[in-house]
Amino acid sequence: MRNLKEHFQDCCINTATLGFREPIGLVADRVAAAGFSKITPWRQEIDENKPSKAAFEIRSAGLAVSSYCRTTYLTASSEVERLKSIDSNRRALEVAATLGASTYVAVVGGLSDQSKDIEQCRAQILKGLADLIPTVEQTGVKILLEPLHPFYAADRSLLNTLSQAIDWCQTLDPEGNCFGIALDVYHVWWDPDLRKSLLKSGKLIQSFHVCDWRRNTQEPLLDRMMMGDGVIDIPRIRASVESLGYAGPVEVEIFSREHWWKEDPDQVLKICKERLESVC
Ligand code: ZN
Repeated sequence: MRNLKEHFQDCCINTATLGFREPIGLVADRVAAAGFSKITPWRQEIDENKPSKAAFEIRSAGLAVSSYCRTTYLTASSEVERLKSIDSNRRALEVAATLGASTYVAVVGGLSDQSKDIEQCRAQILKGLADLIPTVEQTGVKILLEPLHPFYAADRSLLNTLSQAIDWCQTLDPEGNCFGIALDVYHVWWDPDLRKSLLKSGKLIQSFHVCDWRRNTQEPLLDRMMMGDGVIDIPRIRASVESLGYAGPVEVEIFSREHWWKEDPDQVLKICKERLESVC
């Protein structure tokens, strides 16, 4: 497993960690000043009509863009709405390319409004992802499917395990040119089949996200913990992933409305760096 002190250039900050409080140019300056060389921004931070401005600011800070977050949900209750989502995701792939990101993260969507038909919604997601393939080929930006903890199945993602993500990648793209997987310890640490699935993942995992899970969490969306403060054995999962050849970014992604989003951003970044080097 990589020593992250020696390989700190492989570490990345997902801007969700800082709570979206400041413009992307300032965020990029802070991330660079903290010693990082990679950043993953979110769409809400970028003017998608004029992404070259943000691209310039991030580049000027000395940072490379790792991934771009994230898809408009691919489930929809009407065809018009579905096509709108496809359009939005096509646009985001183009923006990702302008930013210099090689990957676009997919949070695929939960049940569409009023629906209880989980199979139909899953089929709709697969169709939507397939519809994006021409844009992936044209932009050269891969889509990374991120399985989310099953807690989010109803409202955010009907893709919930690594095994399912591998199946979907193989179904959509047997050659592995257009899709990969973003593996987030927060979403997969509990999975009894994680190790077994990792052995089947080949080269599909292309992004690795870290944070921690609060033992008695009441609110899994915005109550993530700093690495080392919760129950996830991060080094064990990372060792597993890296023993299979993973050498991509280790990305900090902490949604923490009541704690880290209220702290001084420079302090948060300093602690992220320390924890990456000591407990991940
Ligand atoms: Zn993630």
